[in-house]
Amino acid sequence: MSEGSLDAPVRYAIDWNDPDFYDFDKINAELERVFDICHGCRRCFNLCESFPILFDLIDDSESGELDTVDVADYKPVVDACTLCDMCFMVTCPYVPPHEFNLDFPHLMLRYRAAELKAGKADRALIELTKTDRNGKLAGMMPGVANWASETGNNLTRPLLEKTMGVDRQAALPKFHGKTFALRAKSDGVTPNKDAPGYGRKVALYATCFVNYNNPVIGEAARAVLAHNGVETEVVYPSCCGMPQFEQGDIAKVAETAKQVSTEMAVWIDKGYDIVALTPSCALMLKFEWPLILPEDESVKKLSAATSDITEYVVDIAKKEGLADGLEPLDGGVALHMACHARAQNMGAKAAEMLRFVPEADIKVIERCSGHGGSWGVMKGNFEKAIKVGRNAARQSASSGKTYIASECPLAGTHILQGIERLKMEDKPQIEESQHPIELMAKAYGL
Ligand code: SF4
Ligand code: SF4
Repeated sequence: MSEGSLDAPVRYAIDWNDPDFYDFDKINAELERVFDICHGCRRCFNLCESFPILFDLIDDSESGELDTVDVADYKPVVDACTLCDMCFMVTCPYVPPHEFNLDFPHLMLRYRAAELKAGKADRALIELTKTDRNGKLAGMMPGVANWASETGNNLTRPLLEKTMGVDRQAALPKFHGKTFALRAKSDGVTPNKDAPGYGRKVALYATCFVNYNNPVIGEAARAVLAHNGVETEVVYPSCCGMPQFEQGDIAKVAETAKQVSTEMAVWIDKGYDIVALTPSCALMLKFEWPLILPEDESVKKLSAATSDITEYVVDIAKKEGLADGLEPLDGGVALHMACHARAQNMGAKAAEMLRFVPEADIKVIERCSGHGGSWGVMKGNFEKAIKVGRNAARQSASSGKTYIASECPLAGTHILQGIERLKMEDKPQIEESQHPIELMAKAYGL
């Protein structure tokens, strides 16, 4: 038996159409097998909440081994997993092709899928994460929606906590009346014909977050790409389904994948590259969808054509060179590497991109922000999410940098909430975190 594999991790297709996938006896047997390996290894003790819960369960059991842990107690381990993929992509030596064949996050996903099938899903969370419906509704009255979701609103937030389970302290994304896709129709952005990258064409997959909650990220991406000669079209068929994936609703994600990939394939056929604006969505398009629909030609084509925005800018820089005009930023950057950017196995592209800015002063932070998508805003999880993200918050706060940035906007906001709660003097007063592409736009003076 080898101690860890030296080969690159391989991920097997998700067998979600097989009835055994949802069989709790089989799931529990697999949990037992995997948990026992983790018990002997414990490398992931500080990655998230799942592993400490598991190891405490084992250590506090009668025998101090997994055999005296009740299977009913496995559920909190599963519930605490945010599917960040760090254990699989970064830490675990036993992932395939190793004979142990260990894929911890996808086993947590399987458990959730089985729970969903058994009717044990959290209905409030399902409603809360219908991002397209919620974005459209809130976008009709953004002032009211933003007033109601403000953390300091003592009228609405306790109500939201009671009815939907959203922790009253958790910062929630803002909404806008005009989506990114709508703004792009009339922003007059055209590609710079003198830039070395002229001739490239990109279909920007807007993502639900950028489209409804933070169009500025999309505008920055469009401006930076145009300055570099790239023609862009904004395409947004629907959300990538990451929130439904987190809940184990694989059938829904498959439906989404088919719809979005069919629409994006038309653009690929016209010679456009696909660029996703947030890493979780890029991860879905590149890696998770092909594991859910391995035979689907559009899904395969989309996976091969998709880049993360920072990855794409670095690609221009390496192949054609970036357009002139970058000026130093007025201060350094504490750059959080989002888990789903790291899970794409592409290297630290956001850092690489920002280092093209003259006199770049970047501190890379590779610890989890703790947010974990919808997980971190729920009551019962928010305090844990702050605890998981404390190291990233502390590193950001003590970095002395002017900007706090993350490719994951939810992570950036969560780090700022973590900083507010740190017991330290001279905490930086930074109101908003930035997406690295916003800093790039700033460095270009766009
Ligand atoms: S995927 Fe992330 S949250 Fe889930 S067990 Fe692994 S490290 Fe923890
Ligand atoms: S997931 Fe892998 S690295 Fe992490 S504790 Fe389990 S066996 Fe060890």
